Amino acid sequence: MIEVNGLTKRYGAVTAVNGLTFTVRPGHVTGFLGPNGAGKSTTLRMILGLNRPTSGSATIDGRPRPAGLRHVGALLDAGDVHGGRTADAHLRALARGIGLPRRRVAEVLEEVGLAGVARRRIGGFSLGMRQRLGIAAALLGDPPVLMFDEPINGLDPEGVLWVRGLFRRLAAEGRTVLVSSHLMSEMENTADRLVVIGRGELIAEESLAGFAARG
Ligand code: ADP
Ligand code: ADP
Repeated sequence: MIEVNGLTKRYGAVTAVNGLTFTVRPGHVTGFLGPNGAGKSTTLRMILGLNRPTSGSATIDGRPRPAGLRHVGALLDAGDVHGGRTADAHLRALARGIGLPRRRVAEVLEEVGLAGVARRRIGGFSLGMRQRLGIAAALLGDPPVLMFDEPINGLDPEGVLWVRGLFRRLAAEGRTVLVSSHLMSEMENTADRLVVIGRGELIAEESLAGFAARG
């Protein structure tokens, strides 16, 4: 479970996130919806402890900071990966860091459909392949809490169908799954609960059906 309480982030005169309060429950795919610039990435980074809030707080399963990749897996900026490494080497380094066997790397590469390009350098990967790699990294530690920032961007149609199924399966396993997007249409096919924000502020926190019925 993710609990966000009065979370606020200011960059000088810019208020990126303004007093956000919401809860993300296990067993659901929760869509984090808002236009570009609404403050989604900043919020996710604060939840992960990568950005310090100006005020307010976020906890994951009651802790102020995630307890590592075995606790929380996240796909953030898919472009932000060292391009000189192979996919395999990138994931092996992460796996070593949390004491996972090599076979787990092969498993997640297979799961995200990158087994065939495991020995290629990430620098030559398309955005869709980078998204898959970021998802592999998030899955690596088999964490109970997962966050995906705009995972659909750059994926081909088959990839979009695949991630939807993956998110539903993760939620059905009882995990906490938060997926950000700027597209309502995408959330209609992916999420069952929504946290909607605009200009850093909460607009709605409810079931997809409840939000859709507002129109
Ligand atoms: P989203 O992920 O919803 O597109 P962001 O969280 O990336 O939104 O950005 C929210 C707002 O905060 C935007 O106005 C953005 O320009 C601003 N912002 C984000 N990061 C920084 C930063 N490091 N310095 C200054 N402004 C920032
Ligand atoms: P499938 O249904 O694709 O055969 P399972 O859900 O039965 O896969 O899981 C197979 C193995 O992968 C198990 O060891 C499980 O713990 C692991 N696993 C499943 N989902 C994830 C995930 N999202 N992240 C990490 N490991 C996972």
